[in-house]
Amino acid sequence: MKNASTGVQLALTLWFVGTGIVPAAGHAAEDWSTPFQLLGRETAPGTKNKFPFIDDRSFEASYLNMPVFVARGAAPGPTLCLAAGIHGDELNGVEVARRAFAEIDPKDLRGTVIALPAINAEGVRTGNRYLSDRRDLNRSFPGSAGGSVASIIAYAVFTKIIKNCNALIDLHTASNNRANVPQIRADLSIPAIHDLALHFGLGIVVNGGGPDGSLRGEAAQAGIAAIIYEAGEPLRFEEDEIDRGMRGVHNVMAYLDMTDNAVQKTADDRVYQRSKWVRAARGHGGFFFPMAKLGDLIKEGDTLGKVVDPLTDEAFNVVSPLDGEVIGVAVPQPVLSGYGLFHLAWHESD
Ligand SMILES: [Zn+2]
Repeated sequence: MKNASTGVQLALTLWFVGTGIVPAAGHAAEDWSTPFQLLGRETAPGTKNKFPFIDDRSFEASYLNMPVFVARGAAPGPTLCLAAGIHGDELNGVEVARRAFAEIDPKDLRGTVIALPAINAEGVRTGNRYLSDRRDLNRSFPGSAGGSVASIIAYAVFTKIIKNCNALIDLHTASNNRANVPQIRADLSIPAIHDLALHFGLGIVVNGGGPDGSLRGEAAQAGIAAIIYEAGEPLRFEEDEIDRGMRGVHNVMAYLDMTDNAVQKTADDRVYQRSKWVRAARGHGGFFFPMAKLGDLIKEGDTLGKVVDPLTDEAFNVVSPLDGEVIGVAVPQPVLSGYGLFHLAWHESD
């Protein structure tokens, strides 16, 4: 349990010094007596603002027609960014960003919160993970000004918004036909990211750097303390997962001394250094029926579920290769060889 004290302020200072993270525009030196400027819009200290990313009616510009939320605190502090809807079908994250932002009182805020709650806005409207050009936006960062639509969006978001952030929380769910136990994923080898991840205050933190081209990975490489929150399944709103995410965002704000709140940690705090997928074995395709559930602690050799070949009635058990925890699971569905069925985390550490 940690509260907004000098300890937190010290942690924040060390955070900048220890990791080479430099406050975006140097928030200490930032002029707080005039409105905050972003994308040609002004947000006065102690107020909130919402506006479209781009003011352009052209056909092409519609891809950048994402909402931008800004809360400019009454007093100086760091810049926290919330990203959601990079995968348009991952609605829990979209709602975490919207609700967490709605709860912010800018008069009591130190620093700036910038939320992009629906980066792939068209995907959010239509329930699509990918962009209209079928590319994965979360493999397209940092992007380029002259590339594909995915690359252009990534470049615009990265250069105009993300580079201003001291800390970033990218909000996701599991991918198609899977569900994730609420979890933070973070590169725990980087001290600033490690500390941010643990102060989100969630039960589970899983170590990992993230794939090339992901927003989190590229932001971390740019010196930004970036973590991912993953919770639940796509295409629906799940209250428990949304609520945990909101509390986590507010915990991070408290940890960064942006509010006077205390960090509220859950009792089931644990950190896993490793994770891996248990997949349908070669030749063991069929109808998948899970038995292990999200959050189950399992032992090596435990039967996690089964795959039944519907033409031969032969059943194949899916067996755990290790002692660990089920942090992701596929929903019951037809599967082919190699399909990821259970995501297991193990190797607990402090
Ligand atoms: Zn995602």
